[in-house]
Amino acid sequence: MVSSAKKIVIWTIWTILIPAGIVAAYFYFPPLLPERPTDMLWFLGLMIGAALMPFVVNRTTIAFVQWISMTVFLLYGLFIEILFMHIFLVFLLLRTKTRKGDLYRYPLNSIMIYIVSLLSGLSFYALGGDHQTFTLEKPFDLLLVIGYTLIYFVGNQASLMLFSRLFYNVKRRLMGKDIVWELASLVVIVPLGMALFILYKEIGVISTVLLGIPFFSVAFILRLYYSTDIVNDHLQLATEIGHELTQSLKAREVVDLFMKRITTIVPVSHAYILDVIDNKELQLIRRYEDGENKSLDIEPLLRYEGISGMVWGTKKAVLYSSKAEWESVAKGYMPESVESILCVPIMRNQKVVGVLLLATTEKRAYVKYQLMIVDILCSYLAIALENARNYELTKKESERCALTGLYNYRYFERLIEQEYQMLLERKYDNLSLILIDIDHFKSINDTYGHQSGNEVLRAIADRLQQFIGDTGIVARYGGEEFVILLPNISKKEALSIAETLRIMIANRPFILEQQLIQNRKRSFIRITASIGVANAPEDADDYLTLIRHADFAMYVGAKRRGRNKVSEYQSIQANG
Ligand code: GH3
Ligand code: MG
Ligand code: MG
Repeated sequence: MVSSAKKIVIWTIWTILIPAGIVAAYFYFPPLLPERPTDMLWFLGLMIGAALMPFVVNRTTIAFVQWISMTVFLLYGLFIEILFMHIFLVFLLLRTKTRKGDLYRYPLNSIMIYIVSLLSGLSFYALGGDHQTFTLEKPFDLLLVIGYTLIYFVGNQASLMLFSRLFYNVKRRLMGKDIVWELASLVVIVPLGMALFILYKEIGVISTVLLGIPFFSVAFILRLYYSTDIVNDHLQLATEIGHELTQSLKAREVVDLFMKRITTIVPVSHAYILDVIDNKELQLIRRYEDGENKSLDIEPLLRYEGISGMVWGTKKAVLYSSKAEWESVAKGYMPESVESILCVPIMRNQKVVGVLLLATTEKRAYVKYQLMIVDILCSYLAIALENARNYELTKKESERCALTGLYNYRYFERLIEQEYQMLLERKYDNLSLILIDIDHFKSINDTYGHQSGNEVLRAIADRLQQFIGDTGIVARYGGEEFVILLPNISKKEALSIAETLRIMIANRPFILEQQLIQNRKRSFIRITASIGVANAPEDADDYLTLIRHADFAMYVGAKRRGRNKVSEYQSIQANG
């Protein structure tokens, strides 16, 4: 990035030097008046063509103009050459879609062009060059042209090197890859320029057409070749990203990875992923703006509503190049600065399961082949997301109890084994266990029905989970039994937690909504629980014994002694 201070310096130098410099060039090197002044426009046209259709060589874009500017110089003198080069520059920057913040490139390049033109032009005159007598038939003229071109080339390289160091802090190597390419291009440029000059002298302006045709044809062919090259690269990249996506088993990670990769493959300043929910509406599941994820608090869209809704409805991707093209379609949220939009349906089995919308603040940012690449990536995204969601669901189903959402006993056994291992490794000193059995639960089922019993179980599970939170692991042990594992919690603390839980169950009645429907009135029931507590290493040498002893405490210490009680393992032993 070039700082604003530097930009101001560039503009200031330009304002002082260039307009005055161009006027000075006019007075010191007045344009040679040709026989047919309009011929000049043909050369200007050729230069503008070179700006608009640059060559793409080895992945870099080069606008070969020197063969034309050289001829212009030889025919019309320094002033016209400088003038035409500045017009060329305007078109070159237009073509590369220079943004507002980069406008300083015009004065910067203008200064470079001016210096280089002046340097090579003055050398031409100093060496005895004379436009009037110049013919290229004399060996001296040939040497002059070669000298002029070389000075132009060296001057250009030197100023590039100097300016990149001054303004971009980039060190250009003297014989870097770029320079080797440009040096090689001289082999084309010098003869081409000479041919243009000679041919113009012989046959007039038709020479610009005659040489322009092969020149622009080659530019065109190289461009075609380059674009298939790019598409191939992107296809390859898309496949790699696709494989990477399908390897992830978490839906969140899949989306994260997708966002990260998509921003490297196409220009993106805003990205949105929307999910089709119940075939009814499009809900935002990811909102990426200015490099970060933002809040998803945005109204869902209906089918055919807005750009995304339209893509969902028609199952067809759309590409917009500017705001004017999509403004009438858009509905709902869309940032003010957006111009180009690429919106693609995320399809699975011929059904739209989501929509991806990419946008940038620049006009004409997307081209057709990018749509194809994004489309391919979306297919991978759909597969990867479905896989991840299935996996997450299966995992949840295998770990959790469907009624209460708590861990099931099978999974709890794995967790307690791990926690016990941590205890053995002395990661902490204590592992406590609370076992809860609801009192007379059978009678609840008998009185209110099995559904109401389920409701109570769910409510108890919620109360337990809410109270325990991150301090421990709550699981459903069996029918109406719950177990709570408390890592790094002493027996004393566990007993106190157990007592709080007992009161929480006994003192707050449970509401039966199921009753509400049948009797049209809400029922409250009171429930109690018997609770046993055991601790490792105090009461057990392995995790199975820990569970067994908590169970023993619950049954013998609490149930047998009248229920609605908390009991610890050791006291039972002491009392026989
Ligand atoms: P206590 O523990 O106080 O001795 O009496 P209890 O009635 O709770 O004892 P018991 O263990 O004999 O009965 C447990 C009852 O819990 C039996 C069963 O019908 C009920 N139960 C177990 N699992 C579920 C369930 O998922 N839903 C419902 N509604 N009831 C269940
Ligand atoms: Mg029981
Ligand atoms: Mg019971």
